[in-house]
Amino acid sequence: QVKRSGKNAFRFFDPELNTHYRERIALENDLRLALERSEFELYYQPQVSMKAARVVGMEALLRWNHPAHGRIGPATFIPVAEEMGLIGDISHWVLEEACAQLARWRADGFEDLRMSLNLSPHDFSRTDIVDMVTECVSRNQLPPAQVELEITESMMMQDTAGVATKVKAMREAGLSVAIDDFGTGYSALAYLQKFPVSTLKIDRSFVRDLDGPSTNPIISAITGIARGFGLHLIAEGVEHAEQAETLRILGCDVMQGYLFARPGTAAQATGWLEAVPQP
Ligand code: C2E
Ligand code: CA
Ligand code: CA
Ligand code: CA
Repeated sequence: QVKRSGKNAFRFFDPELNTHYRERIALENDLRLALERSEFELYYQPQVSMKAARVVGMEALLRWNHPAHGRIGPATFIPVAEEMGLIGDISHWVLEEACAQLARWRADGFEDLRMSLNLSPHDFSRTDIVDMVTECVSRNQLPPAQVELEITESMMMQDTAGVATKVKAMREAGLSVAIDDFGTGYSALAYLQKFPVSTLKIDRSFVRDLDGPSTNPIISAITGIARGFGLHLIAEGVEHAEQAETLRILGCDVMQGYLFARPGTAAQATGWLEAVPQP
């Protein structure tokens, strides 16, 4: 009896929804195994200084090499990993891998290079996040200032996990902290008082509109904020030479985007480093 009503009820389900549901279950099962099957890979995108005409940093961007579906971007699986409670292990892997790669590049002579990595809101809810990062950084003998943790404005807004305290502790440990997608949240100025970050990353939505004349109130305001607070500035999503030129005129020196390189493997990224003579 119960079974039949269940079956009837099932008919009311959108078959497409049902397909999505099954796909989601499959994704979850695969994701649970991805770490132990070594299916994750870090890609790297260079951050280029216009003045120095060289790569000054790399942002580590996570990829999932799925055995059946090929390479999957983080937007697809990070939210699922967060919901499933898998993000902590994944972030730990990202941290270890990024630090190991920076150590390899340093051993190859790229000693000034900075490594940026992305943290999830969940990572800030663990009490040992600061210890976890500092331990990994010192074990790999990295100068802490050259390891940059990227956080988003939404993390600063939900300060329940004591994000401000943890950011302060990271900065006191000498680590760099960047606000990712800067300008897309709100009342950013108030947060700058509370969160002693070292870098602002101009969101690519602002860079996108930069093909026109070399005046732009938002970019000018953000460069002014960075200067006033003594912060590093990085523009992301730079795709066209016109945008790079406008940013340079407006006082933003370091840029990241497809104009320079799409994110690539560690081997590709090493090639980009070697292509430009070091000082
Ligand atoms: P994000 O931190 O804002 O990273 C920048 C994203 O913009 C990357 O997408 C990058 O490939 C893309 N991008 C770079 N240059 C350009 C450009 O010139 N034009 C355009 N249209 N896009 C550009 P990706 O790699 O797909 O990453 C998406 C997001 O996933 C990241 O956004 C970040 O929030 C998150 N993510 C990436 N790796 C990790 C990770 O290891 N851990 C966590 N928690 N999140 C990550
Ligand atoms: Ca980022
Ligand atoms: Ca960003
Ligand atoms: Ca983003």
